[in-house]
Amino acid sequence: MMKHIFPTYAQYPMEIVSGHDWHLVDNQQKSYLDFTSGIGVCSFGYSNDKIEHSVLNQLGKIWHTSNLYPSQLQDDVANALCPEGMLAFFCNSGTEANEAAFKLARKATGKGKVLAFNNGFHGRTYGSMSLTGNPDIQAGFKPLVPEVQFADYNDPDALSAITDDLAAVILEVIQGEGGVVDGNGDWLKQVAAKCHEQGVLLIIDEVQTGIGRTGKKFAFQNFDLDPDIITCAKALGNGLPIGAMLGKKSLASAFGPGSHGTTFGGNKIALSSAKAVLEQLTPDFLKGVQKKSKAVFDALGKKVLPLSAVDSISGLGLMIGIHLNDSVKVADVISHLQQNGLLTLSAKHNTLRLLPPLVMSEADLLKGIDLITDTLANVDATVESSLI
Ligand SMILES: *Cc1c(COP(=O)(O)O)cnc(C)c1O
Repeated sequence: MMKHIFPTYAQYPMEIVSGHDWHLVDNQQKSYLDFTSGIGVCSFGYSNDKIEHSVLNQLGKIWHTSNLYPSQLQDDVANALCPEGMLAFFCNSGTEANEAAFKLARKATGKGKVLAFNNGFHGRTYGSMSLTGNPDIQAGFKPLVPEVQFADYNDPDALSAITDDLAAVILEVIQGEGGVVDGNGDWLKQVAAKCHEQGVLLIIDEVQTGIGRTGKKFAFQNFDLDPDIITCAKALGNGLPIGAMLGKKSLASAFGPGSHGTTFGGNKIALSSAKAVLEQLTPDFLKGVQKKSKAVFDALGKKVLPLSAVDSISGLGLMIGIHLNDSVKVADVISHLQQNGLLTLSAKHNTLRLLPPLVMSEADLLKGIDLITDTLANVDATVESSLI
């Protein structure tokens, strides 16, 4: 369909042309229940009045001023976003947030080595791609940024790789692109403890798991961890491009004037959206996400897990992985679901990944789970009949 665009993405046949609440409409007027939120971006759905008002209000004032001038809006959003004792650096994406984290960690510690994990995903620019433990993503782009080491996620042996010659360890609390792999809580705590003991900075990549996705503001708060640096992006602007790197105040002197920068980062339009997102991310809202999550995981356990196409289910909050066995291809399941009016995502290892808008009603969440149940049950039946 697109003749003037690099063929970087394998695309579905339809274009999404409008949306409301948590429903999307394509160019053939077919509507879909959305279990994708873009890719974990539009957590407040497609018609959020508070975000719209905040952005429209800012559009009428000023769009861009450069970072040569202070911005009260940046300071307010940083205050709303940062855990106690942290400062923010705003950028435009997840990969940029991780680039900033990588640079800050090296500069602050004076050390070069970083430990990352197999199946982790941190982005596509050179630094963050070099931290991404997926050979398919790195293929053809070598040489990568040197001195990045990898260990197996959730592996107790990885602890021995955390030594005092590392600048940092970077990880996701739940690996998203890597297949919705749940971090083991005890292991995560041991990693954090070893980092602190060895003087190694702990960078937690919350680009996908942050901003309420797991029922907490940040996913690490489910496990009582104490990161030195946090990166976020995706859901922070509900669709406007914004990323942020948050770091402990003790790191401030390594990121002084001239050390790092960005023209668009901290842009007032993107920030006006993030402000309205964070204002709505209240403890009550997060409790609501936890309650809906419980209903969804109950339904998944009762209806989806018993199906012969399904090996296991993972995730937390409204970040969900349904691990399909080899008899079915996740791409086929996704296109069947599209025909049945439900948009879903995949992740590595034949995983059907669900990232519905956090504002979706419990009734529609359960409706989506029923569509998945029916679709996978049909796939099951086809698999069984083809065996006969
Ligand atoms: C999506 C993602 C990124 C990259 O974010 P971009 O905005 O696409 O650059 C980094 N880390 C994680 C965990 C992600 O899910």
